[in-house]
Parts: sequence; structure tokens; C-alpha cells
Amino acid sequence: MGVHRPLALTRLLCLMSMRILPAVLPLLALVLTSCSSSPSFKSTYFKAKKEPWRADEEQACLSSRSVVQTRFIRSRSALGGPSVCGAARPFEMHAAGEGRVLMKPAALLRCPMVPQVERWVRNTVEPAARYYFGSPVVEMRVAASYACRPINHRRGAKLSEHGYANALDVSRFKLANGRTITVKAGWHGDSAERSFLRDLHKGACNTFTTVLGPNYDRNHHDHFHMDLARRGRNGRGNFCK
Ligand SMILES: [Zn+2]
Repeated sequence: MGVHRPLALTRLLCLMSMRILPAVLPLLALVLTSCSSSPSFKSTYFKAKKEPWRADEEQACLSSRSVVQTRFIRSRSALGGPSVCGAARPFEMHAAGEGRVLMKPAALLRCPMVPQVERWVRNTVEPAARYYFGSPVVEMRVAASYACRPINHRRGAKLSEHGYANALDVSRFKLANGRTITVKAGWHGDSAERSFLRDLHKGACNTFTTVLGPNYDRNHHDHFHMDLARRGRNGRGNFCK
């Protein structure tokens, strides 16, 4: 009898899981589609509406081939849904400047973000590091990229640009000489660090449509947030703080 008991238990568990699985599947599907683009899209976690420009802009970027795949910039499969969270064909950005500036961890970004990050690194971050510290930047800390979440993680708020893989948060910069500059300490640090970070912020404002740093609010005391949201009536507005 004692030998048969575990077998009976296993059978019972199998039967139970077969009964439970069909009941759980719809729930699982609901969870999985909560980040997708179904027309019946509803979420209490964040507010979002269908904005056709997002898919159009991504498609235009992909067709223009402005992002070339390299060892450091790799295409990957679709994220989430095409119109609410996610991107149709996002890129994993492991480094900018042809590998000179590593991005750790790699950022998941939609197509239009990649050339802008490149531009910011090449035109602002690299020259500023040479100017203020005489040493090249070799690494940037990626504090956030793709994340299907409301702004500032506040339940019920608008979906963050991070939800569209249309935003990048950077929190620190490592130089070839070993020095590390963090937004958190450097923003109020010595004069070289303060000037370096303010130049980076200013350069970002010329490159992205939204830039938020320590002067914006407490949520941004330790990183720069950069995104390509369309702002204002004509979609060409900027917000830089
Ligand atoms: Zn951010």
C-alpha cells in the first residue's frame, strides 16, 4: 500500500493540473496581452492610446536603413505589441561610437532612438570627456531602456516613453583613465564634473525631444532621461529640464 500511495498522488496531481491549466490559460493570455496592441486594449496599470505616428515613424526609420547592424547594434524580434507597449523591430544597443563607448547593460531601443544616441555620444559625450578630463569615455551605465510601465512607475499614469522603447536613462560614465562620473554625485560634484554633466544635458536637449535631469524632479536626481516623444500641437516641441 505504502508503495502505491506516491503513484496515486502523482496521478492526482497530473489530473488536477490538466483541469487547472485550461482554467488558468485565459488568465495567462490576459496577462500577456496586457502589453499588446489589441483594439480592446485596457489597463489599469497605465493610460495609453493608439498613436499611429509611432508605427509609421518606426517603419520609416527601418526602411531608411539609418540603423546598420553591427556587432554592437543587433536587431531583435518584436517587443510587446506594435502600438501600445513595445516596438516592431527593436535594436539591442551594446555600444555607441562603433564600440568605443560600451552601454551596460545593453539598451533595447526602437529604431529612431539609435541614431540619436549615436549622435549624442559622438557630438557631446566624447568631446566633453576629452575636454574636461583628457580621457575618452569607455562606458555608459544604462539605468533603463524598454519597460512597459507608467511614468515614474505611478499606477494609472500615462504609459512612459520607455514602454515604446523610445527612451533611454543613463546614470554614469566611465573614462579610460578609470574615473567614473555619476549623475547623482557629479551634478553637485567638482567643477569639471558639474560642467561635464551640464554639457551632456545641454547636448541631449539638442538631440532628443525630452530630456529630464536632476533639476527636473527627485525621480531624476541620479540619471538623465532622454526620449523622442512627439510634443506640442505640431509634434515638434521640446522639453528640456
Ligand atoms: Zn526614463
